[in-house]
Amino acid sequence: MSRVSVSKSGIRPVARNASLDRHTQRFLELRRGLEQIEYFCKGTVLKRMMKCGKVQCACASDATKRHGPYFELTYKANGKTVNVKLSPEAAPLYGAAAQQYRKLKTLLNRLDKLSKTILRQQAKLAESKRQD
Ligand SMILES: [Zn+2]
Repeated sequence: MSRVSVSKSGIRPVARNASLDRHTQRFLELRRGLEQIEYFCKGTVLKRMMKCGKVQCACASDATKRHGPYFELTYKANGKTVNVKLSPEAAPLYGAAAQQYRKLKTLLNRLDKLSKTILRQQAKLAESKRQD
């Protein structure tokens, strides 16, 4: 049966390979993006203005008189939210790293999707060569 379909429509296996080549090419392109990822860090950097808790302080009644800004990195680990205090100097470093992490995640999702497409095509190709 497989011998018949190959000789009848010789174009089909070629077209399938072309599609596989295109996806492989795209995979290699995307993978190069991984090399451009800088130091990364899971989470979000938050900027907070705080009340000090003193009743007579201006911050108690006026939101614009709150103290700060205070920075923290927040992320989830084992289902729990973790907050890490950051100095004003550290905040932009972690902010940039968090951005890199999001970029990495997007890239990984794309690579994962593309890999699955390629794996499906490779499996089909291998199955079509099965002798039974
Ligand atoms: Zn205050």
